Amino acid sequence: MPEHVWRLNAVAEQADRHQWTVSVRPMRLIVLGCSGSGPGPDSPASGYLVQAGDAHLVLDLGNGTLGALQRHLDPWELDAVVFSHLHPDHSADFASLVVHRRYHPRPPFDPASRPLPVYAPAEAPERFAAAYAASAAERAATDLTDVFAFQPLSDGAVAEVAGTVLRSAAVDHPCEAYALRVEQGGRSLVYSGDTGPCPGLVELARGADVLLCEATWPHDGGGAWDEPPPGVHLSGRQAGEHAAAAGVGRLLITHVPAWFDGEQLLAEAKAAFDGPVELVAPDVAYTV
Ligand SMILES: [Zn+2]
Ligand SMILES: [Zn+2]
Repeated sequence: MPEHVWRLNAVAEQADRHQWTVSVRPMRLIVLGCSGSGPGPDSPASGYLVQAGDAHLVLDLGNGTLGALQRHLDPWELDAVVFSHLHPDHSADFASLVVHRRYHPRPPFDPASRPLPVYAPAEAPERFAAAYAASAAERAATDLTDVFAFQPLSDGAVAEVAGTVLRSAAVDHPCEAYALRVEQGGRSLVYSGDTGPCPGLVELARGADVLLCEATWPHDGGGAWDEPPPGVHLSGRQAGEHAAAAGVGRLLITHVPAWFDGEQLLAEAKAAFDGPVELVAPDVAYTV
């Protein structure tokens, strides 16, 4: 980008920030990608930018989401990255963020002086080093804590993250996985991550303004199953049932794989939850 354009953008961003600091800035959820289980023809895999007060958080960075992020925010403006779990469709683009953080030719500050907080399952540093470093020798020498500050998530944990409150609850998935709750300015957003039916998700989502909930398969398996398999994902109906049990204000359905019909899962969720329900789309912003 030519320097004068960069400068104009910087001035516009400063003006934008100033404007928001003198008004009440609503929490916003911007979908970077919502294709379940991997990227699809119309969307990257899972990733969500949350603007809360002055904070910019990313929840998950699946395949293709770092590119999408750059349409909405300079990645240097991120205050934290949070991972629900470490399946590649939720975390693959962290490897690209490593490169961005370490090798950007014009960083606005020394990234080693301000390591980016990363909240994730405990094995994240090791897993991300393995994903980033291509050879055994490189892996042995790779320590990502030069530019990232890893914080392990746990069930029931509460953290203050850039002026927001971040809560995590263990959910039911084949690996260590968490649902996440972001609270700021009296508003609350809960993200299911990936999970099968789970009372812990209902508890975390209790009374939330928005539940961003996965729905990965239809409830009726069309002969493949009578009841959806437990311990992996939710059906559209189950997402609606969790929203109803938690008494949330609004349900946003996400993580529909390219091989299933989102409208069918949306109809299932609507039948189980009386409140507003929407199927999210990439690059769309939702006010929380
Ligand atoms: Zn997934
Ligand atoms: Zn998963």
